[in-house]
Amino acid sequence: MDYECAIIGAGPAGYAASIYAIRAGVHAVLFDTHAGGGLASIAPNIENYPGFRSIPGADLLEKMKDHALQYVDFHEYESIIRVEKTENGFLLKSNEENQYEVASIIIATGTNHRKLEAEGVSLLEGKGISYCATCDGFFFKDKTVAVVGGGNSALIESVYLKQIGCKTVYLIHRRDQLRAEDAYEHDAKKAGVEFMMNAIIEKVNGKQQVESIDIKDINTDKIRTVPVDGVFISIGVIPQNELAKQLGVELDDQGYIKVDCQMRTSVAHVYAAGDITGGLRQIITAAAEGAIAGLISTEAVGKKYPY
Ligand code: NAP
Repeated sequence: MDYECAIIGAGPAGYAASIYAIRAGVHAVLFDTHAGGGLASIAPNIENYPGFRSIPGADLLEKMKDHALQYVDFHEYESIIRVEKTENGFLLKSNEENQYEVASIIIATGTNHRKLEAEGVSLLEGKGISYCATCDGFFFKDKTVAVVGGGNSALIESVYLKQIGCKTVYLIHRRDQLRAEDAYEHDAKKAGVEFMMNAIIEKVNGKQQVESIDIKDINTDKIRTVPVDGVFISIGVIPQNELAKQLGVELDDQGYIKVDCQMRTSVAHVYAAGDITGGLRQIITAAAEGAIAGLISTEAVGKKYPY
């Protein structure tokens, strides 16, 4: 065995799992396709993680990484692409063509951005269409942008884009009610975000760069063209469940991994934690699930923890 536990995905869940597994005596390794942090690290500001009134996602996740790295063997930029059950555990194969034999796995692969299905979107991605206000917002200072979506992320990104000096920020949502919490709606209204409700983007126009969007009012079916320089798509996430599928782990109807209250999946010695399990999908719940999964991974190697 190379490791007693492989933790796949270095977001809040993976970092917490690393800390708890190793402190419980499990020889664990952590893998991430990138440098770690996950989607939470591109959140402009996090204001509901206890202990931090307001902190950029990148800063909070850097602190978590720094903490986890005191314990865990971290293979950043190493993606686990294949996983299979063996007689004694699991065999992992990575994009680096490395193989690892492990006794247990914690899947903490999180979610990724859902893509908007509208004409012109795939053509103009990176040319004014973005999935990350923190990463690309700076290019739109003094310009007009549209944010698509009605969840917490869309509202937070709208406020952030106003804050960094976008001239006009439209929030385009397909219903007449937001999914986001009231506090974020309040912040967006206060910041001067302009709401376009019951509206969907039919088409993004532009040759080299985004120039305008065609918006359909879903009550009247009327389409109007609104000039914008950028479009930020924030319409939710999809679970990164490829490895779970390879292992035959049971998923729910939306593709999230089903777990019991100890983060056990339907496959023995495979655990899951964080956004990949669905539900509340908050940093604090991801970290809590990671902690539970890290501790319970002791059972896979015949060790115990005291609760
Ligand atoms: P979300 O809560 O799933 O919201 C996605 C939004 O996009 C919804 O308003 C949805 O509309 C809309 N949408 C989905 N597909 C669409 C499409 N094809 N065209 C147009 N609009 C579409 O996603 P999220 O805001 O990314 O948040 C993901 C999770 O992270 C949530 O659990 C959220 O609570 C959590 N989160 C929490 C915080 C925080 O508490 N600080 C911050 C960010 C995210 P409908 O409303 O009509 O379905």
